[in-house]
Amino acid sequence: MVADLAALLDPVSTRRLIVKVGSALLVEGGAPRVEWLASLIADLAEVRAKGSEVIIVSSGAIALGAARLGLPRGGRASLADAQAAASVGQVVLAQLWAGALERHDITAAQMLVTLSDLEDRRRYLNASATLERLIAAGAVPVVNENDSVATEEIRFGDNDRLAARVAQAANASGVLLLSDVAGLYDRDPADPDARLIERVEGVTPDILAMAGDSSGSGLGSGGMRAKLQAAQIAERAGVTLGIIDGRGDHPLGRLLKTGVGTVFLPVRQETARKAWLGGRLAPQGALCVDAGCAAALAGGASLLAAGLTDVKGDFQRGALVSVHGPDGERLGQGLVEYSAQECRAIQGKREGEQEAQLGYAPRAAVIHRDHMVQ
Ligand code: GLU
Repeated sequence: MVADLAALLDPVSTRRLIVKVGSALLVEGGAPRVEWLASLIADLAEVRAKGSEVIIVSSGAIALGAARLGLPRGGRASLADAQAAASVGQVVLAQLWAGALERHDITAAQMLVTLSDLEDRRRYLNASATLERLIAAGAVPVVNENDSVATEEIRFGDNDRLAARVAQAANASGVLLLSDVAGLYDRDPADPDARLIERVEGVTPDILAMAGDSSGSGLGSGGMRAKLQAAQIAERAGVTLGIIDGRGDHPLGRLLKTGVGTVFLPVRQETARKAWLGGRLAPQGALCVDAGCAAALAGGASLLAAGLTDVKGDFQRGALVSVHGPDGERLGQGLVEYSAQECRAIQGKREGEQEAQLGYAPRAAVIHRDHMVQ
């Protein structure tokens, strides 16, 4: 069990750890911070030597590539710029990690994934198997989003959520986000009264309200909001997530000495499949339900057509849709048993009235409880 931040570096409580490195740490003025990276890798080599398995999620491709191509705004002025910058920068990034790990006799493995690679269950399991095999073979996977092919609507855009998703896929027990802020503050960290929250048990609406929405440095794209979403994804899977200020040399060594940062402890552990489902980020439509249905869902029931009040979007049977209550509040998401058109046909109808609309015997539910997460 992980009780505090430092336990993330302990092989008994955290056998497998994801370490996410943000652009602001790795890149300064368009150039890699080579000495800092060497100090981090020395720390990582120590953590591995004690028995932990490590996977790295590294940002920096866009920032490095933009500098080489002379693109404005760190390569983030347009999607086309970001994609071009990532293509150039990813080569540099991979060489950087491979070279620095090699100095400790560690073999680096590059893995580039898109959001849809992890949204599709079969491809997700495939990525999971590759990570497993790489670790068994003694390599350290270095993962990034495949930014040069990911399109606007279907991309992570930040590596915080990607890191949490990789943690699920890799069956890891911890994620450590190395950031340019010390952790979650109860208000804007620029405010002198801001207080660092050391421990969070469950990402509640109060916790979500503490996050501003911009990245500290402007180099990366994460920001605290993305980090809290990452914490939500992680906690579904029973994964502990930590945020620390990684800017100084030997960030992991420092963590062991000071323990400063924020730790998000998981308060639940869903089955692997439900954790995957809950961590999916791109619903194709939305279902709105009445108060009675919302109460039934909270009690763990399936979503029935009688409680449906509105159907948004155009989707096929089997699609991921979000579910909303009477005030538009998000209740969860799940895999829908009918197409959008069929949902509209049976919306508000009781079981006996549905066959006439559908032309065939209705299914047990619009979303079965086994295919829904709250
Ligand atoms: N994947 C992006 C890159 O390598 C970084 C995304 C982020 O800032 O989190 O540049």
